[in-house]
Amino acid sequence: METPATPSAVCRASLEHYGADQWGRDFLRVSPGGTLRFLAPDLGPVDLQALCDALAARGIQAPFVVRFPAMVEQGMARLRRAFDRAAEENAYPRPHVGVYPLKVNPRRCVVDTVVRARTKLRYGLEAGSKPELLLAMAQPPEPGLPLLLNGFKDHEFMRMAFHAAELGHEVVVVLESHREVRRFLDVRAEEDWQAAPRLGVRAKLYSKGSGRWQRSGGETAKFGLSTAEILKVLGALEDAGLLDQMVLLHFHIGSQITRIKQIKRAVREAIRLYVGLQSGRCPSLQFLDLGGGIGVDYDGSRTSYTSSVNYSVEEYASQVVYEIASVVEETGAVPPVIITESGRALVAAHAVTVTDLREVQGAPLPVPPPGPDEHRLVAALRETLAEISAKNYEEYFHDAVDFRDEVLQLFSAGILSVHDRAAAEGLFQQIRLATARIVQSLARPSEEIVEYLQQATRKYLANFSIFQSLPDAWSIDHVFPAAPLSHHDQRPTVRASVVDITCDSDGCMQQFAHPDENLTELPLHEPAASESYYLGFFMTGAYQDSLGAGHNLFGRCHEVVVHSPGAAAPLLGAERMEVEGVEVEVKMGLTNGDMLAAMDHDPEALRAQLRDRHLERETTLGKPWALGLLQSYPYLARTLGGQEP
Ligand code: PLP
Repeated sequence: METPATPSAVCRASLEHYGADQWGRDFLRVSPGGTLRFLAPDLGPVDLQALCDALAARGIQAPFVVRFPAMVEQGMARLRRAFDRAAEENAYPRPHVGVYPLKVNPRRCVVDTVVRARTKLRYGLEAGSKPELLLAMAQPPEPGLPLLLNGFKDHEFMRMAFHAAELGHEVVVVLESHREVRRFLDVRAEEDWQAAPRLGVRAKLYSKGSGRWQRSGGETAKFGLSTAEILKVLGALEDAGLLDQMVLLHFHIGSQITRIKQIKRAVREAIRLYVGLQSGRCPSLQFLDLGGGIGVDYDGSRTSYTSSVNYSVEEYASQVVYEIASVVEETGAVPPVIITESGRALVAAHAVTVTDLREVQGAPLPVPPPGPDEHRLVAALRETLAEISAKNYEEYFHDAVDFRDEVLQLFSAGILSVHDRAAAEGLFQQIRLATARIVQSLARPSEEIVEYLQQATRKYLANFSIFQSLPDAWSIDHVFPAAPLSHHDQRPTVRASVVDITCDSDGCMQQFAHPDENLTELPLHEPAASESYYLGFFMTGAYQDSLGAGHNLFGRCHEVVVHSPGAAAPLLGAERMEVEGVEVEVKMGLTNGDMLAAMDHDPEALRAQLRDRHLERETTLGKPWALGLLQSYPYLARTLGGQEP
């Protein structure tokens, strides 16, 4: 059958089931055939289902992370435009500088994208550890774009900071404690350095953020100096004759700040502190660094709920520039260069984590044939199943519910046998399925029955590890949006909870983002056994890559990077190919052997041990098969015909 040129009403309504019409409004569409299409800049719509099928045909099976690096550049450009416009509206004379915090996603394709776009879009880099600093140091220095160093710094880190300055980077060491001043001064005195970093200080504000990370701000925050401590730091620098090196005041009140009011309050407090210091003890201050925190609307509700935000990037820029400009105007202070360290807002949307649903727990079983003394209620269910049709389904389905409930009561009273109970359960499941098929075929099915059918929860086994791929969903109940990549031309008939393949009862998705109310179960379909049914978790591009854990020895998934035409250098160890008209780079995920090696096992020794075991015994599958397993993917495999081996 030909698919129509535009998506049907069913397809459009399907997006609403998942809230994808809201949270995916900027990057998701449904095709007339009911598949999801991803809209990334400079690319035509990429059909995610077709991409997965084409990858599977090449032996690259889910789970994998599909990345669209162009989305990262789009996020950077949006923030840039928002600040440029806000500066214009408020006649603010100094250009904003963005800084990308490497910890938010240090993957090569993300960092390469940021680095390529940063000259044009004015972005510096931020590092909070030695490997991050090494990564930043290796990039070409950019005049006017700072390399900010946050986090706790030991002697070696401080030496690296001086080295980075010698390499030509505009390094600013953000002091997190009074002891770091001492360390800075010691390292400075150790060598005859050709260049030195400048300094910043992180202030502890009384204003807190809002949402899950609000404890990053406020007086009990882990980081930042009180006003008295800042003055002590300035005193120490003055004594060393280096007060003029203090150029930046930084604060960060948390990630995913859900309310604009909280941001305004913090910015107001920070600009007052900045002006107080700049016009008094520290005239060398030039930069006010607002930290990160711009939230992402994961559930599409545009509210201050923890999985959403009640402001846009444009409103954020407009409000913070307004607050700063007002105080600058009132006090006559020299306006600071505004720096933001937002990461989540730039990178979250670029990644889709794709898993395939493998097994349905609670799926209907074949109904046993009628026995000679079958109970009348079981016989009634059997008759209902035989006669239910589009004309009588409302009445017959209600009858079936009553028969089933009565069977359960009689069983508890000791009147019905286990055999009757099993037959009644099986028959009811079949009636439910038959009703679902009827409902599918109707233009206006009974809402009550549609709702009832959706309430019947099943467990769908998804081929991924929540600990590896969505660690925030497991550890801090972070809510991600999800939707199947196909079947949007059909009404979902099942409400399913989604569990992963780890041997852990924590390995299940507790919630899915939705604009009305987050869902504990996902409306899903009942695909044929031969069909692959992919589920996408969206906006997984921030933090998940570095936080993922190897529980059960499930490791990093395959990476599928979809490039805009002509973009990007190849990833290390990746294969470049054209799939479904787009250029992708595929980097295979970690193997069983890699995961064992990560736990200090020696894959070569394991190989030898396996070989020796095989020499002792003649096994059915033989040595080559067992040895090859060290090279294979830990996740559930599927043969090319669609079924598991
Ligand atoms: N800067 C600092 C100091 C941070 O701790 C963080 C993260 O919490 C960020 C920037 C990035 O924050 P976000 O990803 O919320 O923009």
